[in-house]
Amino acid sequence: MPTYKETHRRSLADRDAFWREQAALVDWHAPFERVLDYARPPFSRWFVGGRTNLCHNAIDRHLATRGDQAALVYLSTETDESRRYTFRELHAEVNRFAGVLKELGVGRGDRVLIYMPMIPEAAFAMLACVRVGAIHSVVFGGFAAASLATRIDDARPKAMVTADAGMRGGKPVPYKHLVDESLRLAKYPPAAVVIVDRRLDRDMPRVAGRDLDYAALRAQHMDARVPCEWLESSEPSYILYTSGTTGKPKGVQRDTGGYAVALASSMRSIFCVQPGETMFTTSDIGWVVGHSYIIYAPLINGSTTIMYEGLPIRPDPAIWWRIVEEHRVRTMFSSPTAIRVLKKQDPAFMRKHDLSSLEYLFLAGEPLDEPTARWASESLGVAIVDNYWQTETGWPILSAQPGIEQTPRKFGSPSFPVVGYDVRLLHEATGEEVGANEKGVLTIAPPLPPGCMTTVWGDDERFVRTYFSTFRDKPFYSTFDWATRDDDGYYFVLGRTDDVINVAGHRLGTREIEEAVQAHPGVAEVAVVGVADQVKGQVPVAFAVVKDPARVATPQDAAAMRKEVMDTVDRQLGAIARPGQVHFVTLLPKTRSGKLLRRSIQALAEGRDPGDLTTIEDPGALEQIRAALAAR
Ligand code: ATP
Ligand code: MG
Repeated sequence: MPTYKETHRRSLADRDAFWREQAALVDWHAPFERVLDYARPPFSRWFVGGRTNLCHNAIDRHLATRGDQAALVYLSTETDESRRYTFRELHAEVNRFAGVLKELGVGRGDRVLIYMPMIPEAAFAMLACVRVGAIHSVVFGGFAAASLATRIDDARPKAMVTADAGMRGGKPVPYKHLVDESLRLAKYPPAAVVIVDRRLDRDMPRVAGRDLDYAALRAQHMDARVPCEWLESSEPSYILYTSGTTGKPKGVQRDTGGYAVALASSMRSIFCVQPGETMFTTSDIGWVVGHSYIIYAPLINGSTTIMYEGLPIRPDPAIWWRIVEEHRVRTMFSSPTAIRVLKKQDPAFMRKHDLSSLEYLFLAGEPLDEPTARWASESLGVAIVDNYWQTETGWPILSAQPGIEQTPRKFGSPSFPVVGYDVRLLHEATGEEVGANEKGVLTIAPPLPPGCMTTVWGDDERFVRTYFSTFRDKPFYSTFDWATRDDDGYYFVLGRTDDVINVAGHRLGTREIEEAVQAHPGVAEVAVVGVADQVKGQVPVAFAVVKDPARVATPQDAAAMRKEVMDTVDRQLGAIARPGQVHFVTLLPKTRSGKLLRRSIQALAEGRDPGDLTTIEDPGALEQIRAALAAR
């Protein structure tokens, strides 16, 4: 068995041979002529001339060998429904949906906007789109009408797919009402809106001629057999917008062949799920993790995927582990945010179920602090794997790769560069590579590996300007994240480049200070932002959520706790990093994908407008920040 180091080195030094081997993991209708065309940097085209189809690879090719195996298991704790689709049944449903799309005139290159809750029909719609060569743009259900309208106008879809309503915490959330509002705002509304009616919203409005009922259309296409459209490898499969944590979201365009190969490869090298085994990814189809690891990767791999509609703590905080036990889940994929939610619950819930099938819990999306990683590892008794990536890349950039070699993991580190990624840490000002334990901007020397974004939808110039123009004379892809590499080659992601705090000339990553605060065992979660200060330039200000509210119940208690937190930071990082203020709140403002809205917190702390808040999970969290600042 080659080691990780050898494999990674070979993936870069002998790129063509390496990816040619990986390409054998998927079916090609016509073979590719070249592995990589990099004639027009930084644009790369993978598997040039090859013809394939994502839906064929996800479904059709498994029919002969695993037609009766479960492909998609849908579990909803919102509606108490569960449905199980074998590959054969999934094939039938996707063909029906594809038949409907064809009837609406949707074909190769057309866009379809999907605004759906976590129900199987959302997966059918995505797979049906790629089957007919249409480009899906899934927008997270829950974005406000204005955000949806912007995405409609950017993609100009021929059709939209939605549902009457979603469910959250037991309450219906109207979708169709919101779609109608967005269509009033949009400049380029589609001619057809297909509605999956879950009968959750009796007052759902309908527009005659435009709105179509999916159940009725499906009934007309029960026996549909729609052939897969064989796309050239570089033809787009989908558009997906970044989370919008730092500003205007960017429309990430994904190819077809490169994405299929990258995902298939990652299931072996990183996620270690065999065909026939089960993967449970707790994300949402509106996010990149949902695209890659709820839908495409497990299915391409011939695995069973679990699609879960519901919260991690309803009906009780053991729900995920009950699912793991009942479905013999092999690999689970979630986020640090979700684990921090569970950390606030009674630990007995973590031990209620038999987790013997579960080998790995992968976590991505936000920094995974060491105490949380340690806590999860100890309370679940499974391997916790931090992996770092972006909507742009579509699959992990940094991760342990246990399918290649079982390298020891260090808590707080997403380990090493994934095969195919030429990761470099560059000095922010000089662009030179930094040494061990020095902070640098995490960049990727191009060409980007297969699966990564091929351009910004409709805007090649923005692609180059945004991602490849940070360093003069060095057109590397910038992730806009800070990182260090230790003496053993382990990477540590320190936060975003625009989240650096400059205290009296010392540059501190917000994540470093957050980690230090979190070393206090009473703290469940914390956000640290830099606030302008006349003397020091900036001072760190912390907003912490404590595990036990009794610890900060009275002003005296809060003062004592505040001192403990400051002392903890002093011990961990030194007094220079000590927060000037520590506020206690019960909730932090986050995006719907669980990312801290540090920019908005910082704006409030500096008395500015918090900016665009359409992606915020709970506006009450910002109110708490406002109140905490006012009470000072
Ligand atoms: P936008 O680019 O629109 O501001 P976003 O960056 O939040 O939004 P995503 O692509 O969903 O959108 O998030 C990727 C970012 O999340 C990374 O650049 C990094 O800052 C953070 N991230 C993801 N995984 C990890 C991880 N394992 N450790 C630390 N940070 C992570
Ligand atoms: Mg980003």
